[in-house]
Amino acid sequence: MTENQQLEIVRENAKRIKYEVSEAAVKYGRTPDDVRIMAVTKTVPAMLVNAAIEEGFSLLGENRAQELCAKYDEYSQNAEIHFIGRLQTNKVKYITDKISMIQSVDSIKLAREISKHAQKHGKTMPVLVEINAAMEQSKGGINRAALTEFLCELAQIPFIKVEGLMTIPPADADELETEKFFSQLYGSFLDTREQKIDNINMYTLSMGMSSDYKSAIKHGSTLVRIGSALFGLRK
Ligand SMILES: *Cc1c(COP(=O)(O)O)cnc(C)c1O
Repeated sequence: MTENQQLEIVRENAKRIKYEVSEAAVKYGRTPDDVRIMAVTKTVPAMLVNAAIEEGFSLLGENRAQELCAKYDEYSQNAEIHFIGRLQTNKVKYITDKISMIQSVDSIKLAREISKHAQKHGKTMPVLVEINAAMEQSKGGINRAALTEFLCELAQIPFIKVEGLMTIPPADADELETEKFFSQLYGSFLDTREQKIDNINMYTLSMGMSSDYKSAIKHGSTLVRIGSALFGLRK
């Protein structure tokens, strides 16, 4: 495939996804503006990412610190970047100045490291707490049952501010199971909001990927993270 053909496919996918996200929002009684769309860029060349940005995907999701640093200078200036992958504490220092949110916070140790580097850069870093919906060993995230306690600890840490929750359902879950995880997480999101813990806000519920974003929108997602439906299957 030529570069131009690849660009054309990404542009068409981008238009279709925007349309389908709006359509799903309306169908489930939400407004299209309630649901932000993120372009997930892992393994995707910057040129294709920039085509998505031009189509209005102004929010990028990065999984790997090294890949982010390698591609960062090639991205169009109009993009905002969130970190969504598993983050080792020793990598935090490389990304703090490049991103506006870390969605994958699941330990106090990581939160403290983010706090330290945010302070160095004179900023307060918005973060989401990652929930491990199915308690999979292989994945990051905390258990839903431990959420309140975890939030109370995070609330004590300066230079970070908790703004919501993120989850990745198991890849092998069927549609019904996935819906169950989404609806449980929406429950936790609403409960936490009710609890009104100091320094903890629940603005963002980040859930839904290429194969399940409509169901996530049905269950209250405010941010869907789209990779392969936008850029094609990863190698
Ligand atoms: C890769 C990835 C996505 C996007 O997955 P697709 O199924 O390709 O849309 C979303 N969120 C996270 C955390 C990811 O790692």
